Amino acid sequence: MDAENTTCPLCGEGALGLLFPAPDPNYQVHYCNQCGLGLTRPFPSLEVLDGLYSTRSYRSEERRFIAPLELGVWLFRGRRLEMVQKHIKPPGRILDIGCARAHMLSMARDKGWDAYGLEYNAESARHAREGRGLDVRTGNVWDAGFPEGFFDVITIWHVIEHLKDPFRTIQECAKLLRPGGILVVSIPNFDSWQSRLSGRWWFHLDVPFHLYHFSARNFGALLEREGFRIAGPAHFSLEFGPYGVLQSLLNRLTLSHNLLYEALKTRSLRTGKGGTGTMLRLAFSLLSLPVMLPLSLVMSVSESIAGSGGSILFVAHREESK
Ligand SMILES: [Zn+2]
Repeated sequence: MDAENTTCPLCGEGALGLLFPAPDPNYQVHYCNQCGLGLTRPFPSLEVLDGLYSTRSYRSEERRFIAPLELGVWLFRGRRLEMVQKHIKPPGRILDIGCARAHMLSMARDKGWDAYGLEYNAESARHAREGRGLDVRTGNVWDAGFPEGFFDVITIWHVIEHLKDPFRTIQECAKLLRPGGILVVSIPNFDSWQSRLSGRWWFHLDVPFHLYHFSARNFGALLEREGFRIAGPAHFSLEFGPYGVLQSLLNRLTLSHNLLYEALKTRSLRTGKGGTGTMLRLAFSLLSLPVMLPLSLVMSVSESIAGSGGSILFVAHREESK
C-alpha cells in the first residue's frame, strides 16, 4: 500500500484533502471526502517511527504515570479482561496486539488464559518476556508465526490507529481467530463531539503517533468487509472519554499541547519545557479542574448517549461458517 497516494486506502474511492495542520508543525491531517477517514501526512518513515517508539519516549518503563494514576491503569486493565471474559468462556488463547507493559496479559494468565502479546517496541517486549515470563513477540502480526485459527480472542486497545497497515492487520486477525472467536478493538472516534469541537487540539488526535483517524461508521464498515459480525460499538469509555474532553478543552483554552497530561507522567518521561508561560498555563489548567472535570464528565456521557463518543469499542465475531 502506498501510504502517500491520493486515493483513500480504506474505501478506495474518496479523494484526500488537507483538513488541518497538526499541533506538531511537521505534520498535517488529511481527510477522505467519501468515508471520512483521517490520515496523518506525511507518513512517518520507518526511521522516524523507530525514534517515536524508542525506549526513552514510549512505554517501556515500568511506571509511566504518577502513582495514583498507575493504580487507575491497573484497574482499567482488569476491566478490559472482565469485558473479554463476558464474551468467551472458559479461558482459551488470547493475543493482545500492542500489549505495551502487558498488564492485561499477566492478569489473563493468572485467570487461566494462554496469553500472547505483540509489541512494536523491542525493549517493552523483552521486559514482558523476561519480567513477566509472557510470550511477547515483535513485528507485524502476519510475521509473528501464529497458525490460522489459533486464537479465541484478539484484543487491540487504542493501537490500530498507530499501525502502518491497520487494514492488513484486521485481515490477519480474521485468519488467526477460530470460527466464533472475537476481535475486541477500541479506537478514538474521529467523528465524536470531542474531536469535532476541538479539531487540531483534540487530545486523542495524537499526531504523529496516530497514523489513521477512524470513525465508528468507517471502522465498523471495515470490520464487516473483512467478515466480522459486529455488536455496538459501545460509545462510553470511562478510561478515555472524560479525559479526552478535559485535555482537549484545556488545549483549546491555553493554546498549548497536553500540559496537564505531561505533568501526570513520571518525572523521567516528561518532555515539557518549564518556562514561565508554560507554568502559568499549567496553573490555569489545575485551578480550572473543579469546573472542568464535572463539565468533561457530563459532556463525555452526553456525546456517548448521542452515539458520538470519543472512544469507541467494537466486539467483532468471526463468523462460524468462515
Ligand atoms: Zn475513504
